[in-house]
Amino acid sequence: MATDTDLEQQILATIDKWVDQELKPIAREFDQADQYPEELVEQMKELGLFGATIDEEYGGLGLSASTYAKIVSRICEVWMAPSGIFNSHLIMASCVQRAGTEAQKAHFLPKFASGELRGGIGLTEPDAGSDLQSIRTVARRDGDNYVINGTKTWISNGIKGNCLAVLTKTDPLAEPRHKGMSLFLCEKGEGFSVGKKLKKLGYRAIDSAELIFEDFAVSADNLIGGEEGRGFQQVAGGLELGRINIAARGAGMAKGATDMALAYAMERKTFGKAISEHQAIQLKLAEMSTRAAAAALLVQEAAVKYDRAERCDLEAGQAKFFASETAVQNSLDAMRIFGGYSYSPEYEIERFYRDAPLLCIGEGTNEIQRMIIAKQMVARAG
Ligand SMILES: Cc1cc2nc3c(=O)[nH]c(=O)nc-3n(C[C@H](O)[C@H](O)[C@H](O)COP(=O)(O)OP(=O)(O)OC[C@H]3O[C@@H](n4cnc5c(N)ncnc54)[C@H](O)[C@@H]3O)c2cc1C
Repeated sequence: MATDTDLEQQILATIDKWVDQELKPIAREFDQADQYPEELVEQMKELGLFGATIDEEYGGLGLSASTYAKIVSRICEVWMAPSGIFNSHLIMASCVQRAGTEAQKAHFLPKFASGELRGGIGLTEPDAGSDLQSIRTVARRDGDNYVINGTKTWISNGIKGNCLAVLTKTDPLAEPRHKGMSLFLCEKGEGFSVGKKLKKLGYRAIDSAELIFEDFAVSADNLIGGEEGRGFQQVAGGLELGRINIAARGAGMAKGATDMALAYAMERKTFGKAISEHQAIQLKLAEMSTRAAAAALLVQEAAVKYDRAERCDLEAGQAKFFASETAVQNSLDAMRIFGGYSYSPEYEIERFYRDAPLLCIGEGTNEIQRMIIAKQMVARAG
């Protein structure tokens, strides 16, 4: 695991340069046009981002969650959407890395690391999001295969990706329900198709899709872990890294919004002085920067625990909850500071305002997050 500080600094310097030279110049145009950034994907492959947290023995960079979180934040300081291209892909990879059989690791992880196979996680359905145990997608054993039928929705990378970890019911009647759930690695093919591309308020340019499985045959070798009934736990385990990743996005966006607001406040003049000289604006800036710094610290606390293989659902939940709410609040405060120009697509801040609320929804809504935090508080106190 690459935890060396010098190495981390080198990686972050490379990411900063890439963000500055490649992301920043196209963000506004691609977001407005909801255009997929194909070139960025090729650059992400070269940077090794599709293998950021995959072990080096499988061709990944083997980065710690702590370094990974910093990379995600640096990207999201400028434009959040591109981080989604490799983030949910790495949750899929982490499910294989933690719970896959040796054969699955040897087959899939090198292809995930190179970006030859890329995608994400297929959990949500039209009638099931937070209550994942009520999903209806079914996988029925048929000889050496399973046959999958069902519909998934809101799936990130669902159109441009070619592989997905799909949560199914292998025993729809099981009690408790999670014992009948299994996770499959599904490469696109006959019976696995895109229903439609979904339009969105924000988080544009990357694809969110409804996906349809109609008698889709997948080899039993692709059942993660090789044993039915473990899918729910496998997904829940992957969501810890997922929550650190969403928290890192939030911390990055909160800082990005603050930086933009500060720069604007120092330039914009009213009543003969820069608005940064008005106390009402100063109070906002101070609160924004303090919240952004606190969010970054919570992210690092959770990531360091994750790297030590310690239980971190409380810390990841706190980081996700606080950093995402901070991204929303700081985007709104930045809008206030930008005044009328906040409403113009000529400035970047309106994108932050549209992108940030997603962070309160994805990887477990913030309502669910608070329940997880409280449950852990009670468990740890007991
Ligand atoms: C842009 C985007 C990208 C996404 N990407 C993916 C992806 O790649 N893969 C994937 O599988 N999913 C993805 N999702 C789906 C996302 O994970 C779900 O939207 C989320 O889990 C919430 O589920 P839901 O929308 O069904 O809301 P619901 O579960 O219906 O919740 C509705 C409201 O009720 C609240 N609520 C629900 N249960 C409780 C409770 N017990 N107590 C208190 N409040 C409760 C929720 O917090 C929320 O406020 C994505 C969504 C979006 C918008």
